[in-house]
Amino acid sequence: MVEPGTVAKFGGNCVSSADMYGRIAKILQADRSRKFVVVSAIAGVTDSLVASLAKPREEKEIDHYIADLRRKHLALLPDSCEDSSVEAIGALTTKLERLLYGIAYTEETTPRSRDFVLSFGERLAAQVVAANLGRLGVDARAHEADAIGLFADDTYGNASALLDETRARLAPFLRREAQAGHVSVITGFFGLSQDGKPATFGRGGSDYSAAVVAYALELPTIEIWRDVGGFMSADPKIVPEAFPLSALSYDEAAELSYFGAKALHPRSVQPARACGASIVLKNIFRPEETGTRIGPDTVDRSGDVKSISYVRDLATLKVFSTGAGRKESLLAEVSTALTDAGTNVYSAATSQTCIALLVDADGVSRAKKTLARLPPGLIDRIEVLAHVSLISFVGEGLGYAHGVAARVFRAVAERGINVQLISAGASMVAYTFTVDDRDLEKAVQAVHKEFFGNGSHDPGRLARARGDRSR
Ligand code: ASP
Ligand code: MG
Repeated sequence: MVEPGTVAKFGGNCVSSADMYGRIAKILQADRSRKFVVVSAIAGVTDSLVASLAKPREEKEIDHYIADLRRKHLALLPDSCEDSSVEAIGALTTKLERLLYGIAYTEETTPRSRDFVLSFGERLAAQVVAANLGRLGVDARAHEADAIGLFADDTYGNASALLDETRARLAPFLRREAQAGHVSVITGFFGLSQDGKPATFGRGGSDYSAAVVAYALELPTIEIWRDVGGFMSADPKIVPEAFPLSALSYDEAAELSYFGAKALHPRSVQPARACGASIVLKNIFRPEETGTRIGPDTVDRSGDVKSISYVRDLATLKVFSTGAGRKESLLAEVSTALTDAGTNVYSAATSQTCIALLVDADGVSRAKKTLARLPPGLIDRIEVLAHVSLISFVGEGLGYAHGVAARVFRAVAERGINVQLISAGASMVAYTFTVDDRDLEKAVQAVHKEFFGNGSHDPGRLARARGDRSR
């Protein structure tokens, strides 16, 4: 049974000021089907929690940190709010303080304790948002995802939700809340692991949480509210004439997000696709605008490049091997080792003598150390090419249009830019190539200009035209 309703996710800047709480309340009041809200932490809080774990702390430092965090959240409560919100924030910060003490004393952070600490940003935010909504006439209740049956696997730091278990437990609870007339304000970013601890979904994971809630409740719509618009043809900071996109397919959105577009957590698409829900990216300052819609019916194969994204600060790890006899196992061993080291591989290319892997620059030394532990004789030597940026161009039509890659690489070559590594065909909708960091902006501009001209068109008109075609 599909019950109409919407889960609306608000995060970062959108939950960090009184003005924003007013906007959220209006948005919820304008459409009563928005009965489920997912929040992420107040801007800067998750980063501060990460920093609090970065080194063994003195007790004094912990005390200061906790006092600041408590003050910051209390200050965001409405003037006349229930004591219970003040108490909840007190209790949460006290619990976090004890946790940080424990970590400081033992000088040991495990992936599990780390996720527990990181989960506090969302727990605090849910209290603050629910209290403010209450004050603004919305009957809102704060809920912690791990207490209400949002289940996850044990991959701390990058967990995935257990969708069907979650549906069985979370949905009845949230339905009852909705029937009682309450708006549920649910913590994003983490769920309850199989060993009963919070496990986070990776940075930016609240978008994913919203999609999981939609899956559980079989909701048709997931709204991701942001303080900037949705997806664009390129990052407007690099390409001023970039224009908004009114529609993308699931795959286009997933690839763009994976390859650096900041609009959406890349894995959000998974639960959405599994239940046929649409993800709609909306601008909190312009709620009347339609934003970018990503759904089961937004596949448009008629065009070529729809959008260009990029990831900076990467490195290419070149693993050389002449141990021909063990060639088959080389790729497997290398990728297993890197996965175990928590190194994200963006792209890989193999030849007879070398495997080239694109990884985050700050993971290179860890990756090298891990590879050094592989059985002797497997690897001859490793070379690192630093200062690498990856550019991806994405479109459902790429596999059908002719000469797209040629146009991209000509446009880039004409600007004297050297293309290092090219990957095509791994996905039908995304091609990627790498350049030196210094050439990134010029290369993105070149590709955008090749496909969209130099901005002499009306971007709004073009965006609408592209959107309309995709229906
Ligand atoms: N607060 C978490 C983060 O900063 C999750 C999120 O923002 O979605 O990564
Ligand atoms: Mg985000």
